Amino acid sequence: MPGVILVTNDDGIHAAGLQALAAALEDLGEVYVVAPDREQSAVGHALTLHRPLRVDQLAERRFAVNGTPSDCVNLGVLGLLPEAPVLVASGINHGANLGDDVTYSGTVSAAMEGTLLGVASMAVSRVDPDGSGFDRAAEVARAVAARLLVEGLPAQTLLNVNVPPGRPAGVRMTRLGRRVYSAKAVREVDPRGRPYYWIGAGPPTWEEDEESDIAAVHNGWASVTPLHLDLTHHGALRGLASWEGGLNALLKKRTR
Ligand code: MN
Repeated sequence: MPGVILVTNDDGIHAAGLQALAAALEDLGEVYVVAPDREQSAVGHALTLHRPLRVDQLAERRFAVNGTPSDCVNLGVLGLLPEAPVLVASGINHGANLGDDVTYSGTVSAAMEGTLLGVASMAVSRVDPDGSGFDRAAEVARAVAARLLVEGLPAQTLLNVNVPPGRPAGVRMTRLGRRVYSAKAVREVDPRGRPYYWIGAGPPTWEEDEESDIAAVHNGWASVTPLHLDLTHHGALRGLASWEGGLNALLKKRTR
């Protein structure tokens, strides 16, 4: 056997996209599914630290967890799997995870968790289901996974894959697009006269950028974006070094 592959998602263990991804990777390794027992979309990188996690084994190499996607990867790699996986694959998400939205995504966060644990990781998402199934997205996922297993990835790097509906024109390597936050939070009043708010209403708008993941998917291409987990801006760090003296002088004065 070439190695163990951990498959997870954020739509829950019964999602069609998860089955499609697990099936697509079956001939690349010994696939273990460790996934949330219910939908966990938009939970981001949340971990469950203040209650015990329960694991329900549904079949051989198939586990449902009452936690988040990142819980599943952590528990899979550090507890449930017989050996360290060669790949963590998350998805196929029902809905795209593009541009700035990746920071909210449970699907992408699961791949980030795999990367943090030192495992080559990828997230796969598909533009909202249109009834045509996940076959095309699964083909793209398998091709990327096969290449990834041979080539590996740079340190702290994961792949974010998005597939348009229908047959993709091909694959494009892209960068993350930028969301334009223009829609206001909706404020309404409930039947008891108290205000409530609704965020994330209305369709997102994006900056024009032909090199972006958003443009690629919009134009019918599958998009592969390498993401880096080092969030430090090293250029800014050099620039901010000059703040140290002033901040320390200020603190000294205050605590005198
Ligand atoms: Mn989802």
